[in-house]
Amino acid sequence: MVGRFQRIPTHAEALGTGIYNRHKKMSASRKILPLLITVDVCDGSYDRGDRKPRFNDLMDVLPELKSLLSKFMSAHSNSGALPVTWFLRADEQVKRATGSVTGLYTGWKNFWDDIAASYGEIGWHPHLFYEDKGKWVPGKDGKQLEELARSAWKDIIKDKVAGWNPVTCRIGEAMCSNELMRFLGEIGIIADSTAIPGRRRSDSDRHFDWEPTPETPYHPSQNDYRSPARTDEAPLRILEIPFSVAEIRAPYDPPGTVVRRYLDLSYDPTEFEVGVAKSMTTASSLVTVIHPIQAAGLEIPDGGLVMGGYDVVAKNLDAIVRLSKEAGMSPVPIRMRDLAEIDRIRKPGNDFSLNPV
Ligand SMILES: [Zn+2]
Repeated sequence: MVGRFQRIPTHAEALGTGIYNRHKKMSASRKILPLLITVDVCDGSYDRGDRKPRFNDLMDVLPELKSLLSKFMSAHSNSGALPVTWFLRADEQVKRATGSVTGLYTGWKNFWDDIAASYGEIGWHPHLFYEDKGKWVPGKDGKQLEELARSAWKDIIKDKVAGWNPVTCRIGEAMCSNELMRFLGEIGIIADSTAIPGRRRSDSDRHFDWEPTPETPYHPSQNDYRSPARTDEAPLRILEIPFSVAEIRAPYDPPGTVVRRYLDLSYDPTEFEVGVAKSMTTASSLVTVIHPIQAAGLEIPDGGLVMGGYDVVAKNLDAIVRLSKEAGMSPVPIRMRDLAEIDRIRKPGNDFSLNPV
């Protein structure tokens, strides 16, 4: 196992030290496929009826998820590292439930220290809601989303002495705005992973729009966070790393419709595999997501696509490894921040890039 004080080189540093040679020796012709396993440490959003936050239940199931992911990693590498990005809720709703914005960090500090010591990344996952007449409602415009984020961030900075210094984030409910994306870049967030390419939703529960967004990482335009900056425009100081999406069929999809869904590792393994297999030939990186509340079986939405049980997560991870190898690629688990660092140092002649050729 990795000693607490042993420093593992970042993936970006490793590019120059030959740590990837093992993969090259296995097959010189294989492309490296960065595999981002992300965990939304989240219990959904605001109160619907008498719905109460279940943060204690959520935190209780994390150790078992960590051991499942450790098992997966040790089957593919003997480094003992756990390069997984955990997006941790820290916002006004968490403050209401735990007494502080960073309550899920400080209240379970031993767990997070273990994650950090095992090369895990702890990113920021705010849900940008405020209370209005006893109801939680989402920020209503771009500016307000920024203000809600700014307010939560102040508390994270204040508590930084506790050791948490997030440099990546994912906004709850896929919400975003130009003001918010700019703010994230300004406070030192190097990568955001909120975008669901091609998806748009606007109803009483959610409002987001990622319809024009590409499926590969990009530096957003100042005028439209959903799109890459034009060549004649200075991009925002942040890398947007969208969720990977694939044609995964849900039992409730009307016949003939095709929906590109994000790669939730709790999906029915049969449908998951069919969808991912179709995407594999064009993938330059894979961003997957685990929602522990669902993966642990504490809540299974109606409809039949999401299945409970960590065995489902394990099956879907194994399918990704098998399918990527069949497509001539070597999957390499990597944290969100490493992908952003690689993007920063990427230059002609480097033998690793987001789009290996
Ligand atoms: Zn969330």
